[in-house]
Amino acid sequence: VVRWIGAKRHIIAYADDNKNIYNLSTTQPDTNFAAAPSATYTTRGSKSAMLGVFQDFCPMIQRMLNHVPEGEVCEWKLRVHAPLPTWVHKTVALVGDACHPTLPHLAQGAAQAIEDAAAIAASLSRLPDTQPSTINKALRVYEKIRKDRAYALVEMAAASGRTLHLGDGAAKEERDKQFAALKQGNGKVPDKWADADVQKLIYGFDTTKETLENFDNIFNGLEEQVINGVNGH
Ligand SMILES: Cc1cc2nc3c(=O)[nH]c(=O)nc-3n(C[C@H](O)[C@H](O)[C@H](O)COP(=O)(O)OP(=O)(O)OC[C@H]3O[C@@H](n4cnc5c(N)ncnc54)[C@H](O)[C@@H]3O)c2cc1C
Repeated sequence: VVRWIGAKRHIIAYADDNKNIYNLSTTQPDTNFAAAPSATYTTRGSKSAMLGVFQDFCPMIQRMLNHVPEGEVCEWKLRVHAPLPTWVHKTVALVGDACHPTLPHLAQGAAQAIEDAAAIAASLSRLPDTQPSTINKALRVYEKIRKDRAYALVEMAAASGRTLHLGDGAAKEERDKQFAALKQGNGKVPDKWADADVQKLIYGFDTTKETLENFDNIFNGLEEQVINGVNGH
């Protein structure tokens, strides 16, 4: 994985599909979505607009971006969202981007959706019965296990993006000093994705185990909600 980072812009590049695809993922201030805020969240982008965004990056980047086939530029709308008060309504639960969309700077969007699935599977595996109110409680166990962790990572990804995309000024100089110190092997890691402690926090967590170990405690502490309607829907 190779990354190039500048003020408000960022390129991450890596081979995929057994080296059959070379993927270039970039972030930059958008103009398309900002001009049409209610448009769908993904759209076809323009190669010439992309080249314009990175025109002041080094010549190697220009050559690399010029290799992108015409018509293969896609754009996604990336936004920071306020946390939702709840992820569960009766016997329905939100998962993945529907409840914790994230900026991409920790590469955790899909990973956190998979943790949601693991927590739901573990929670439902411990259902004492299949009454709608019991399912609702089990889903609230899922929410309890996942919410703080997911939102902490969403916030960390946004914070890391802010640090990486700093423009000229004292904060950027301080960040660059930290990057320089890191090359000597010490100090804080401004890029949280590359921070060993953060990687341990992300990848050292067993969601299934956490859910199974805490299920009884959380489940028994939750008040039962009356679920009306056919089958609780
Ligand atoms: C450029 C980019 C790079 C990324 N890189 C990474 C990475 O390295 N690692 C990582 O973990 N994550 C990454 N992500 C994030 C990841 O792709 C998302 O977090 C993940 O796809 C979310 O999964 P989801 O199932 O919640 O939502 P989605 O993948 O958005 O799935 C929702 C599905 O619902 C469908 N849908 C919408 N409305 C309806 C409807 N009314 N009826 C029926 N179907 C509907 C949509 O078409 C879609 O298929 C990246 C995202 C982007 C944009």
